[in-house]
Amino acid sequence: MEEKLIIIGGGPAGMTAGIYALRAGIKTTIIEKSFPGGNMLLTEKIDNYPGFPEGISGIELAERMRQQYLKFGGEIVNGEVMDISFEGNKKIIRMADGREIKTVAVIIASGSSRKKLGVKGEDEYTGKGISFCAICDGAFFKGKKVAVIGGGNSALEEAMYLTRYAASCFLIHRRDSFRASVYLQEELKKYPVTTLLSRTVLKIEGDGKKVIALVLENRNTGEIETINVDGIFISVGQKPNVEFIDGKVEQNPSGYIITDYKMQTSVKGIFACGDVIRKSLYQVITACSEGAIAASSAEIYLSSKDSDII
Ligand code: NAP
Repeated sequence: MEEKLIIIGGGPAGMTAGIYALRAGIKTTIIEKSFPGGNMLLTEKIDNYPGFPEGISGIELAERMRQQYLKFGGEIVNGEVMDISFEGNKKIIRMADGREIKTVAVIIASGSSRKKLGVKGEDEYTGKGISFCAICDGAFFKGKKVAVIGGGNSALEEAMYLTRYAASCFLIHRRDSFRASVYLQEELKKYPVTTLLSRTVLKIEGDGKKVIALVLENRNTGEIETINVDGIFISVGQKPNVEFIDGKVEQNPSGYIITDYKMQTSVKGIFACGDVIRKSLYQVITACSEGAIAASSAEIYLSSKDSDII
C-alpha cells in the first residue's frame, strides 16, 4: 500500500489535520489504535472549546469531528503503528499486524497516555480497584469510598466527577498547592471532596483480590497515615505516545516531539501536532490549531521537490 499522507492518531489534532488535508485535495488516511477521539473520550464535558456556550461532552465533540472528517472523504484504518523507517524520502510505517504502508508525508498525532505512580501495589491492583479513568470506571464505585491522586486539571475534574457515584471522595496531592487552573480550584469548593495536601503515596494495599487502603506520608509532619478506600484513581499526568518513533525525531527529555512553528519535526516530511509535542498548553483547541498547521505544512511539502518520490 502506498499513500501520500498518513496521520497517526485520530484525536482532535489528527482529525483536524485530516479535515484540512482533505479540503486541500490530498487523499488522507488516519491510523487509529482504538476509537477516534483520543483523550476527549475521557472528558465528560468540555467547557472551553469555543462555539458551545453550554459545553459539549467529549464523546459528542469527538463524534462530530469524525463525521466531518468522513464527510470530506477521509479514511480511517484501525491498527497500531509499531515503527517508522525511512527509505530515501519515503516513510515506511509498520503495523502490529505486519502490514506495511509506504507514504510521502506523515503527521504524528498520537497523543499522550496516563502516567503511573510507580508505587508498590499499583500494578497488582490495576483493574482491581485502581483505575486511570474516572469517566470509564466511576460508576463501578457507587456508594464506595474513593481517592484521586494528583493535583492537575485532570485530577480535580475526576474528583468532582466521582462525587456523583462515590459515598466519599479524597483528593490527595503531594504539594501544598494545586497545579490545576484557578477556575477548577474554585469549582472544586462546590463539591464534597476532602482534600489531603502534602501527602506522598507510599504504597497501595489490598487483600489479594481488591484494593483496601492507601498508605500516605504527611510531608509536613513525617507521619504515616493509612486511609481505607475501595477505589483509587491515579491522575498524575501524561506521557507522550512515541514508542514507534522514539529516537528517530528530536524529542525533549520527557519524550515529547519537538516541532517548529510549522509543526515540522527534525525529519523532513514528518510533522507532529497535539498532545504528543512539546508545547505550553495541552488543550483540544491547541491540538486542533496545530493539526490545521501540520496539514497545511504537509500540503506544501507534498507539492515541493523534497517529496519527489513514489
Ligand atoms: P498535569 O497538569 O501534569 O498534573 C499532574 C499532577 O500530578 C501534578 O499535580 C503533579 O504534581 C502530580 N504528580 C505527578 N507525578 C506524581 C507522582 N509521582 N506522585 C504524585 N503526584 C504526582 O497532568 P494532567 O492533570 O493529566 O493534565 C495534563 C495536561 O492536560 C495539562 O496541560 C492540563 O492543563 C491539560 N488538561 C486540561 C483540562 C482543562 O482545561 N479542563 C483538563 C484536563 C487536562 P506537582 O504539581 O507537584 O508536579
